[in-house]
Amino acid sequence: MLGCVLKYIPNWNMKNEMNKYPRVILKSGKEQSLQRFHPWVFSGAIKEIEGSVVEGEGVSVYTNKGEFLASGHYQIGSIAIRILSFDNISIDQNFWNDTIGKALQLRKSLGLYDNQNTNAFRLVHGEGDGLPGLIIDLYNDTAVVQMHSIGMYRDQEFVANALKFLLSKRLKSIYSKSESTMPFKSKVKASDGFIFGGESSGEIIENACRFNIDWVKGQKTGFFLDQRDNRKLLGEYSKNKAVLNMFAYTGGFSVYALNGGASLVHSVDSSTPAIEMANKNVALNFPSSNHTSYTEDAFRFLANAEGMYDIIILDPPAFAKHNDALRNALQGYKKLNALGIEQVKPGGLIFTFSCSQVVSKNDFRLAVFSGAALARRKVRILHQVTQPADHPVNIYHPEGEYLKGLVLFVE
Ligand code: SAH
Repeated sequence: MLGCVLKYIPNWNMKNEMNKYPRVILKSGKEQSLQRFHPWVFSGAIKEIEGSVVEGEGVSVYTNKGEFLASGHYQIGSIAIRILSFDNISIDQNFWNDTIGKALQLRKSLGLYDNQNTNAFRLVHGEGDGLPGLIIDLYNDTAVVQMHSIGMYRDQEFVANALKFLLSKRLKSIYSKSESTMPFKSKVKASDGFIFGGESSGEIIENACRFNIDWVKGQKTGFFLDQRDNRKLLGEYSKNKAVLNMFAYTGGFSVYALNGGASLVHSVDSSTPAIEMANKNVALNFPSSNHTSYTEDAFRFLANAEGMYDIIILDPPAFAKHNDALRNALQGYKKLNALGIEQVKPGGLIFTFSCSQVVSKNDFRLAVFSGAALARRKVRILHQVTQPADHPVNIYHPEGEYLKGLVLFVE
C-alpha cells in the first residue's frame, strides 16, 4: 500500500512534455562545473531564482545568458540543487523507470541479479547511478530505500512505482528508512515505515554465506553490502588463522573467516544488539564453531590482545562525517592502526578500512603510515581495496568514492 508514509504530493509533472520547472539562474562563470557534469549546484553559484520554490521541488538551472544546463531537486543549504538530468526533459514516471531500470541492468550485467550465491546488492548508489540523494538496497525480495534529500523524499512514490514495475516478480516489500538521513534543519520530517508489503527482517545469501537482516532496527539499511568483496578476500586468507574482527556489527567478516577455515574467530563491538546479530549470523552458518564475541570498546580490547591474532580487521564507523572533524578523524585512524599493527602476530595481516567520505585515499594511507611508524613494525601493503561494483563512482563526482581499505602484511 502506497501512501502510509507519504505526506507530500510528488514534485514533477506526470505528463511527458518539456519541463516547466521554476528557473534558477547561475552567476556568470558558475556554469562550468555543471558543464562538466558535476551533479551539485552550491548555493553561492546562484544569482537568482525566478518565482517561489518550495524545498525539495524540481527546478531547472540556466546560465546567466539563459541557456539550459540541467534539472534537479532544490534544497535550502550549501548544496542547493542535486541534478537528475542534464537533458531538458520532464522528470516524470518514465524518467524514474528508465533511470532505476538502467541501474538494475548494470547489476544484472555484474551477475548480481539471478545469482544463487548472492541475492542482496545495492540497486541504486546515489550520484553513482545518476540519482543524488537516493540509496536502494535490495535484500532478496525486500527493497530498502533511503533518501538523503528532501526532493528524493517527496518523489518517493515515483521510486516505489518504478521498483514495483521493474521487480514485479521478485519484490514483496519496500521499506522506507529516511528518518535519520534527512537534512537536520529541514521542516520536512520523514518517518520510517513500509510503503509496500511488510516483512521486518529476512534472510539473505552473500557469496554462499547466510545472514539475517533487520532493516527496521539495524544500522543504515540493515547490512553493509559495501564490504562484500573485501569479506571474500578475507575468507581466502583465513585458513587455520586466529582472526579478530573489530567493529563486527552483523558479523559479516566473522562468518567469512569461519567459512574460509579460520581456527578461531573473535568478534568485538560496543553495541549489544550488534553482537547479538553477529552471534545469530554465525549460528545460522555454523551450528558449532570456534567463535566468541565480546561487547567491548575496540581500543580497550585491542590494548590487551598482544600476539594473539594472525589477522585483525579494523572496520570502524566513519570517524569524520564533516570536513571540520577531519583532523580528529585522522588522529583516530592513526591511533587505531598503531594499536592493531602493534598487536598482530609477526607475519600477520591487518585488514584496515575507512568509510568516511571526507577522508581521502591519501589521507587514510598517511594515517595508517603514521600508525605503522608509531608501532615500529615493518609493514607492506598487499592490497588496496575499495567499494564493490554495485556501489559505482560517477567519474564526474569523485566524492562518491568513500570506502578505502588496505591489507597490510606485518613482519
Ligand atoms: N564491519 C562491519 C561494519 C561496521 S559498522 C560489517 O562488515 O558489517 C561499525 C560498528 O562499530 C558498529 O556496529 C558500532 O556499534 C561499532 N562501534 C562503534 N564504536 C565502537 C567502539 N569504540 N568500539 C567497538 N565498536 C564500536
